[in-house]
Amino acid sequence: MKFKSSRAEAVGELNQFIENNLLEYSKLRNFDFGPQKRNNTSCLSPYVAHGLINETEIINKSLKKFSFVKNEKFIQEVLWRVYWKGWLELRPNVWTDYLQELKDIKEKYKNNKDYLNAIGGKTNIECFNEWVNELKKFNYLHNHARMWFASIWIFTLNLPWQLGAEFFMKHLFDGDAASNTLGWRWVAGIQTQGKNYLATEWNIKKFTNNRFQNIKINEKAAPKITEKSYSLIEKSFINPALLKDKMLLIFDNNLSMEFINFKGHNFKKILIISNTNETRQIQLSENTINFKALLIGDQLNRLKKKSIAAEVIKIDELKNIKEPAYALYPTVGENFDYLQLNELKNIEFIYREIDQFSWQFCNKGFFNFKNYIPKIVTKFN
Ligand SMILES: Cc1cc2nc3c(=O)[nH]c(=O)nc-3n(C[C@H](O)[C@H](O)[C@H](O)COP(=O)(O)OP(=O)(O)OC[C@H]3O[C@@H](n4cnc5c(N)ncnc54)[C@H](O)[C@@H]3O)c2cc1C
Repeated sequence: MKFKSSRAEAVGELNQFIENNLLEYSKLRNFDFGPQKRNNTSCLSPYVAHGLINETEIINKSLKKFSFVKNEKFIQEVLWRVYWKGWLELRPNVWTDYLQELKDIKEKYKNNKDYLNAIGGKTNIECFNEWVNELKKFNYLHNHARMWFASIWIFTLNLPWQLGAEFFMKHLFDGDAASNTLGWRWVAGIQTQGKNYLATEWNIKKFTNNRFQNIKINEKAAPKITEKSYSLIEKSFINPALLKDKMLLIFDNNLSMEFINFKGHNFKKILIISNTNETRQIQLSENTINFKALLIGDQLNRLKKKSIAAEVIKIDELKNIKEPAYALYPTVGENFDYLQLNELKNIEFIYREIDQFSWQFCNKGFFNFKNYIPKIVTKFN
């Protein structure tokens, strides 16, 4: 499997999935047949995570093919990303605490043999080693494999979830502060407190089509415990009136800005912000950095073809820009951290409409959010 690096190709992948594989999605989605047979899920996450294609366009295209009832499972999955993001927006300290904990734990584990064996794919659990290598080579893992991987990491190898989440962020092309951090917290049993996810030998065997044997893992561990609890913050996600001519900054989570409805506003210039390892707390793999650079290059080319003034700059150069600017909201994560750490206050954020509307439903669990999915879908269809 090889991920594409342009919007045109990503849209092609989306169309092909809807045409050929969506019908059987809910029946087959939990199977991980291995990296050479990935057509039972969409494999769109690297594109959606970078905003190369967006949730609204995916849902609306899928609804042109099948009814909501036939599509419900797929639409729910697509909206998990919006939900996780909203959940984290309302509790941003979960992310900042995670980064702080990671810093301390990394120091403690830098020479730990079990940790080094795990990230080197040298444990005595064959399937785990295979997923480590697959993640490094293809920069993607099936959702079920991510759950098994995280469960084995935490409950069999007894390693801190924070290090596992970092390892995923480093290598995943879809690495995303919300989906990843909260996914790992969920497996550990601290997201839905007291409820952990335990991988089992039979489940792995069944959903990998018996590709692995002798899976000796801990199937009876208790959930991890945290003393920390997070209350909801008060934050409004209101768009500015867009009256003045300013520059617009876009980050690597919104790389198809020309398809956002700005109601006729002309920006002075578009600055596409590149955040590389010098300015990141979690160091990304070479593959991941290169992938991001290609997607940014594709966005730049598309803007240039439309004769829109645009340029790529490094995030560190933002400090030199003194004039006020708009920015497509980067969401909680490393790009937003940079703006906050450097106190770049002359930036007004523009929020995506789907986020503005949906995040109000992210104050509780996904079970509750699910009730609002028909409302969200109707509003943006
Ligand atoms: C421990 C752990 C870590 C994860 N880390 C990330 C991450 O960093 N980035 C990331 O994008 N996803 C993450 N996920 C969620 C999920 O595994 C991937 O989004 C999914 O595997 C992508 O494959 P796909 O595109 O074929 O999904 P499909 O099954 O085809 O789903 C369609 C789309 O729905 C969205 N989606 C589906 N499941 C989820 C989910 N559980 N959470 C959020 N969005 C979802 C994705 O945008 C995906 O492209 C993580 C899950 C776990 C358990």
